[in-house]
Amino acid sequence: MQTKDNFRSKLLKINGRDYKAYKEIGGVYEFPEYQLYIDYVQGDPFAAPSRIRVRVPMDSVGFPPDTFASKSREIAVRDYITRCFAKAVENHGHIRRGSGKSGLITIDTPGQEILERTSVVINKNFVEARFFTGLPAHGRKIAGREAEEMFFKVIPVLIKSSLYYSSLDADDLYHHIKTSEDTDFLRNSLRYFGLVAFVADGSVLPRVSGVDDRKTEGENIVPFMSPDSMRFGIELPNSGKIRGMGIKKGITLIVGGGYHGKSTLLNALERGVYNHIPGDGREFVVSLETSVKIRSEDNRRVENVDISPFINNLPFGRDTRSFSTEDASGSTSQAANIIESLETGAGLLLIDEDTSATNFMIRDHRMQELVAKEKEPITPFVDKVSTLYSDLGVSTILVIGGSGDYFGATDTVICMDNYLPLDCTAKAHAIAEKYSVERLSEGGNNFGEFRDRIPLADSISAKKGRRDVKISPRGRHTILFGVNTIDLSCVEQIVDVSQTRAIGDAIHYAVRYMDGKMTMKAVIDAVFSDIEKQGLDILNQRKSGDSAAFRPQELTAAVNRLRTLKTLQVNQEKE
Ligand code: ADP
Ligand code: MG
Repeated sequence: MQTKDNFRSKLLKINGRDYKAYKEIGGVYEFPEYQLYIDYVQGDPFAAPSRIRVRVPMDSVGFPPDTFASKSREIAVRDYITRCFAKAVENHGHIRRGSGKSGLITIDTPGQEILERTSVVINKNFVEARFFTGLPAHGRKIAGREAEEMFFKVIPVLIKSSLYYSSLDADDLYHHIKTSEDTDFLRNSLRYFGLVAFVADGSVLPRVSGVDDRKTEGENIVPFMSPDSMRFGIELPNSGKIRGMGIKKGITLIVGGGYHGKSTLLNALERGVYNHIPGDGREFVVSLETSVKIRSEDNRRVENVDISPFINNLPFGRDTRSFSTEDASGSTSQAANIIESLETGAGLLLIDEDTSATNFMIRDHRMQELVAKEKEPITPFVDKVSTLYSDLGVSTILVIGGSGDYFGATDTVICMDNYLPLDCTAKAHAIAEKYSVERLSEGGNNFGEFRDRIPLADSISAKKGRRDVKISPRGRHTILFGVNTIDLSCVEQIVDVSQTRAIGDAIHYAVRYMDGKMTMKAVIDAVFSDIEKQGLDILNQRKSGDSAAFRPQELTAAVNRLRTLKTLQVNQEKE
């Protein structure tokens, strides 16, 4: 292996030469305190920055074994170290040294969620940080001395101040790890208590804005307080006993006047599949890990989905058992979103009237009188929500302020009143009873069968021009996949661009399992079993620090939105 001094003399040797000569510094260097890996060297000062890893032996950094003893703790400590490194960059690393990205250092910076990230790796042998640097240049000429300063002065400071246990605030670190561990415990306990979601008393749900996910601060914030009848006490391993509102499995309605906090509560439940950092306000707001936000999504492509439980008898006799379209309507997209979620094992659907197709959600008795059932292809969700639970065990939490037709179908009705939840189940049921004869149910006694799909490998290609694989995210909601663009703007539980990046890679990775027999769920499960065994690094060859963990639900959603996707349905060929 080359030494620190080899590296220094290389940098000085290429000083002033054309930028391309930087390629010579790729490789591994042994510093006295750590190993420096230069995995990728950028082609010019304005291109995507170079990828660097620094690996420090555990003997030197000294993290106590209990900080990464379990998967839950390991994820949290990696997240914590990443944040510390990012903070160190902010304090010491933001020095521009020439043109373009010269001298800039970045590490993947987490938001409010604690996600498994490839930015920091920890195990009993070492801690490794993975970050990005703009190799310094003046114009297109290598600025070797500035590079030397960056590698020999700045980066060592970043490492010293964030990768060593002794440089960190141990109490804060343990608080971070233990809070995240408690959140995992809480989410994992839901089923035991017969719950699908839990919101701790004292939680702060509203966010600064639609584009700023931090909690709102100020006097006018109403902290969450559970109604007596829905209160649960749960003993957490680190924080002790907490109290809060438990939402039981089955069908739950969130009603209340406009602007009284209904969507804010639902949004918090959507994000309840992730852990949040201490101080976020939603540390102990959790929902089942298989919760899926369902919404309408005009214009999306749908590939061969059996939407017959919801939609039948379309004009021109279009088959809704294998429904495909390049341009779905509000109702058909919402139906497809539900069936696709069921296909991959959703345990809880989260639906908000704000983002739903009205004709998919309700059909009141006056409309039933005017337009006969035979003339209406859509069986509204109100008539399927009960059998969805009784037949498939899938619960629903639904925000509806505009129609009482759901009252009869619900197990629980929460009324948001000035941002506080009241239990008005009994009242709502009494009202449903009073008007029970008016509206006819149109949903039948069963949810209805739907067929699983088998994704076909040759319909998925990341090839672009001369490159066999070209995949990159464009923000959180777009993946450029080969020559295709995948639009994820309605996949609301993707919270981080590093997830989007990893999902893009995972689609390509998943193709190896598409043998024409494995169902979508089997393929996705196989990918996740590999990730579980070998980590997120298996998704690409880069050993790059910019991937974050995602759920099977979001990976499937992305595959389903790839406009070239082709599938077979299980047993379709036999008919
Ligand atoms: P709804 O869906 O019932 O119409 P929203 O959930 O959209 O209402 O909330 C309306 C506004 O109230 C939002 O600006 C939101 O940030 C704010 N808000 C929500 N919950 C609280 C709360 N607990 N305390 C203070 N403001 C809140
Ligand atoms: Mg709303």
